[in-house]
Amino acid sequence: MPPRTKRTKREPDVVCKCRSHCTIYNAQTGQYEGDGEVVSRRTRDNHSADDKKRATRSLHLVTRRQPPSNEVPSEWVKLINDEVNVLMELPLTSPSQPLVFSNNPSETGPFGWPNDQEILLPNYGRHALTGHRSNHAILSTEQRLAELYTFLQLQGFGDAVEGVDLLTDRLLEGLKVITRAKEVEWAGQRGRTANDAVYVNSGTFIYARV
Ligand SMILES: [Zn+2]
Repeated sequence: MPPRTKRTKREPDVVCKCRSHCTIYNAQTGQYEGDGEVVSRRTRDNHSADDKKRATRSLHLVTRRQPPSNEVPSEWVKLINDEVNVLMELPLTSPSQPLVFSNNPSETGPFGWPNDQEILLPNYGRHALTGHRSNHAILSTEQRLAELYTFLQLQGFGDAVEGVDLLTDRLLEGLKVITRAKEVEWAGQRGRTANDAVYVNSGTFIYARV
């Protein structure tokens, strides 16, 4: 009889249903959807930590309820700023997990920068990403930034409320950083780097710090 193979120390994989990486936010239902992903316990723990970072009280509070008539608009601005701070702490891409585009970058041509309207549409156009888990972090951040931007526009706070202009710029800047991260990945997957690449995918995480 052959000797029993020694048990590896590696613990069995588990299903992770974290919000940061393993499920997808559905803006229509306001729910995180999907069956989760099978990952190692260590990865699951890392994902839980990301979720905790994400789970500030302001998250979802902002778009879930209508502002009561006595709500002070500057409070909304503060809440959204707080949430953007949290979003910007989360990594968008990881060198070990390349983004997965719906179209094959090497067959689709160079990256085309979105116009002012397109950049507000999450995961839009020929550079759209699939539901692959490598994409979850960047997609959920992009979704949320666009959602907050739209929310802010719909409130019509205008110039009357201090900090709205700055916050609007901040949200747009975040969306540009996300687009830039996609551009770099796209160019890399086409076999060469973008001419003026600010981000080089050489072992560091890309963050959307704004
Ligand atoms: Zn996870």
